[in-house]
Amino acid sequence: MWVQILGSAAGGGFPQWNCACPNCRGLRAGTLRGKSRTQTQVAISSDSRSWFLLGASPDLRAQIEATQELQPHEGVRQSPIAGALLANADLDHILGLLLLRELQPLRVYSTTSVRGILLENNSMFGMLQRAPSQLTWTDFAPGATFPLLKAAGEDSGLRCRGLSLGMHFPAYVSPTRQSELIAGEASLVLIVESRSGSRLAYLPAVPRIDDMLLDELDSADVLLFDGTFWSDDELILIQGSGATARQMGHVPLSSDEGSLRKLAQLRRPRKIYIHINNTNPMLNEAGPEYGQVRESGWEIAEDGWRFEIQKGP
Ligand SMILES: [Zn+2]
Repeated sequence: MWVQILGSAAGGGFPQWNCACPNCRGLRAGTLRGKSRTQTQVAISSDSRSWFLLGASPDLRAQIEATQELQPHEGVRQSPIAGALLANADLDHILGLLLLRELQPLRVYSTTSVRGILLENNSMFGMLQRAPSQLTWTDFAPGATFPLLKAAGEDSGLRCRGLSLGMHFPAYVSPTRQSELIAGEASLVLIVESRSGSRLAYLPAVPRIDDMLLDELDSADVLLFDGTFWSDDELILIQGSGATARQMGHVPLSSDEGSLRKLAQLRRPRKIYIHINNTNPMLNEAGPEYGQVRESGWEIAEDGWRFEIQKGP
C-alpha cells in the first residue's frame, strides 16, 4: 500500500492566517527551525495509479497540484483520484469535497449520519451530484469491513473499516439535528488493509486512548496519529481562554495520560504524528519537545512524504 502525506497540520494550517503565536511568528520571520504545513490530507493507493483520499482538506487543490501522481495523465478530463473516505463531518475534513465538483466520477464513503449532514442539511454539497455519473456515495457502518472500489467499480484491493471513537458531531450541526443522528457515527478511526495484509491506521482525532484501541493499533504497520496538541491547556496558555485539547476531542501528547506515554508499549507499528496544530511546540525542531518525540521513536509528518507500507512480521 502506498501512502502520500499531502498535508500534516491541524485546521488553520501552519502558519495560521490569524495567528501570531511564537511558532507562527517565528516561521514567518524565518527564526524558527521548522516547516510550514498545509491542512491534513492523506492519499492511499494499492497500485500507485489509483488513489483514495482520507478526508478532503480545504487545501486539497494546492495539494493535488503539488503531487504529480494525483494530477491528470491521460485524456482531457481525468483524475487518478478514485474517491474519498470520510472519518467525520468536520469542516477541515470535508470542505475539499466541494473543490472536486467538476463532474469527475468519484466514490465517497462515509457513515449514514455524515452523508445526511452533508447532502441533506448543506445544500451546496448537491453540486457533487448534479449528474448521474458524477459521485457515488456509499454508506458504511462502524465496525464493518468494506472494499474500496475505483470510480468505475473495479476493486482496488484495499479494504477499510471504521471504528467509532468520538460521539460529537461538528458544532455547525444543530442540537435538534444531532439528536436525530447516530452518535457512534460521528467520528471514526479508519483502518485500511491491502491484499498483502499491510495495515494503516488513520487517527487524526483521538478523544481518548483505551485498551480496545491499543489492541487495534498493535496490529497496524503504520499509525498516523493525532498530534494536534502537546498539552491539554495549550490553547488556553497562548490565547488566555478557550477549550482544552480533550474538550476539543484530542488527547494531548504529553502527561501520564498522553499519547507519548500511552502508546509507548506499541512495538510493531511505525508511529507518525499528523494533524499538528500550529501552537504545538514540537513544530520547533530546535526545541526539547521535538527532541523528546523523536527520541521516543515517533516521527512528525511533513507535507510531501511518500512511502510504501510492506506487511510487517
Ligand atoms: Zn500559531
